[in-house]
Amino acid sequence: MLTQGLRSELQRIAVLALLLLIAGFFNGYILATLITGGSLYMLWTLHRIHRLNRWLEQGGRDYPPPASGVWGEISDQLYRLRQRITRYRQDHLNLVTRIRRITDALDEGILILDGERTLEWWNPAAARLLGLQRRDEGAPIINLVRTPAFVAFIRTGRFAEPVEIEAPNQPGRLLQFSATHFGANEVALVVQDITRLRQLERVRTEFVANISHELRTPRTVLTGYLETLRDGAENQPPAWQQAITQMSEQTRRLTLLTEDLVTLSRLESTPLPAYTEPVPLQPLLAAIVDSARALSGGHHHITLECPPELAVEGVARELHSAFANLVYNAVRHNPQGCAVQVRAGSTDGGTWVEVADDGIGIDARHLPRLTERFYRVENSRASSSGGTGLGLAIVKHSLLRNGGRLEIRSTPGKGSSFRCLFEPAAAAH
Ligand code: ADP
Repeated sequence: MLTQGLRSELQRIAVLALLLLIAGFFNGYILATLITGGSLYMLWTLHRIHRLNRWLEQGGRDYPPPASGVWGEISDQLYRLRQRITRYRQDHLNLVTRIRRITDALDEGILILDGERTLEWWNPAAARLLGLQRRDEGAPIINLVRTPAFVAFIRTGRFAEPVEIEAPNQPGRLLQFSATHFGANEVALVVQDITRLRQLERVRTEFVANISHELRTPRTVLTGYLETLRDGAENQPPAWQQAITQMSEQTRRLTLLTEDLVTLSRLESTPLPAYTEPVPLQPLLAAIVDSARALSGGHHHITLECPPELAVEGVARELHSAFANLVYNAVRHNPQGCAVQVRAGSTDGGTWVEVADDGIGIDARHLPRLTERFYRVENSRASSSGGTGLGLAIVKHSLLRNGGRLEIRSTPGKGSSFRCLFEPAAAAH
């Protein structure tokens, strides 16, 4: 399919050839006239090419030189192409400026490291947090931040977990670095000042620990008086008897709540003991299952399957707390007649302990939030089952401190399974 320009160019050549033939016919030199006319046409074409070339050489600014036929068409196409490129370049520039403005305004520091882990680019926040200067460009990052934990973080290149260190030259200021690989073996580092966050966390943990501790004394006094009142309750009017029963029930809940708060704050605030030991799972789980049977009053079918030699490296009290919470939950949150299976075993992936039930199950939308403090499934029997809402938070923290993690699977109406997984390093056979 011929384009408009090519068609008019061909028409022009045809008309020119016809005129040259007629002129040649009249002057008697057909060939010479054709050659002369053809040469003139070529010269004119060369002139048009030259003008177009000069326009391109000058950067293709403004409009291209006026031309008709195929060269006019080529000029138009080039002009449109140039306009498109200019537009792209402008968009690109605008985007770069926008990204720059955003990174300049960020409170988080961003640093780009090349394959050799030298500093390629950073934003003003990174300069502020790390005291970087222009001349640091191209310097290895581990020469600028020499803290061993940070050096190991960069050298190993394993960035799944962020690293926290004290800021170089600013004692007392805590920085958190997270990193991602991108492009051709480049690394993007994000650095944040987490001093205030950690301070607030410490204040919160201490506050919870103190308040739960402080609540113990008034609670003991209340419980003592209530015991005495209950002993002589039959002589009291019925309204009093009911009040005493309710007060006893609420103090029992208060006791559970303070005990759970104390456990949780101890898990959060005390460092992991330097010495851990292989904790045999069979006797630990057997004791928990016995208590769970007592709690259930024979209304649930609770079974235990655990190889006798199985053990997990950790702190026995904390592991007990994690498994017990799971087994008691299976009893407390499920109706009578349900089966609760406590199983343990090991694979290449490590040792696992699972508490599975065929009870009410939990809707999928609750699962991600289940280990949050005081999170309860709506319309659940939780409040009537006497839970504090802290059980699964305790499980999560106990497991984390002992090299384990929790996997929850549940189908409403079919039951739930809570699986504790311990990586091989933490497992001791
Ligand atoms: P609680 O003290 O209420 O048991 P948890 O943190 O232990 O608090 O559990 C959070 C919620 O998860 C519970 O309120 C309950 O609704 C739900 N849940 C926990 N375990 C089970 C289970 N085995 N079956 C059904 N629901 C469960």
